Amino acid sequence: MPLDRLSAAWREQYVQDATSSQRGGSPSGCVFCDLLPDGVGESSGIIAVTPFSFLILNAFPYGSGHVLVLPRRHIQSLEELSNDEAGDFFLLLRRSVAALKKTYGPDGLNVGFNLGQAAGAGIPQHLHGHILPRWSGDTNFMTTLGETRILPESLASTWSKISAVMNGPDFESGAN
Ligand SMILES: [Zn+2]
Repeated sequence: MPLDRLSAAWREQYVQDATSSQRGGSPSGCVFCDLLPDGVGESSGIIAVTPFSFLILNAFPYGSGHVLVLPRRHIQSLEELSNDEAGDFFLLLRRSVAALKKTYGPDGLNVGFNLGQAAGAGIPQHLHGHILPRWSGDTNFMTTLGETRILPESLASTWSKISAVMNGPDFESGAN
């Protein structure tokens, strides 16, 4: 079986897991909107909240340090962002990339959007961008073969590490 088939099967499972558990018991029908009022904290997984955006751990990470940047407003598509929201969103994206580099020292990062269910979005109704640290030689191949993905650290540990860096006194997130 070619790798892309394996990968697609794994993604399907991911989508099912994400949608079934993250929608369960959700009053608003959106897990992100439900978590936002909880604010920054290990239990919510939220690392930072800005005037129009927030940063949260991916509850189903592909690897250590996998985070999501979202507008606070429940919108589905990129083009619905106002100019203020878009600016704030990108500033938080930049700050998050800087924090992940400082926290993990990865060889690279993936930054991207899955827009719509057909593009692989697990929760297509609330726009979110993925940021994922990568290391030379790490591939998702083994994780697509195994039933359980092996993650090197817990979500609580990920939250603590990134939060400490982002809120640290020496943190430079980019040009001001
Ligand atoms: Zn929402």
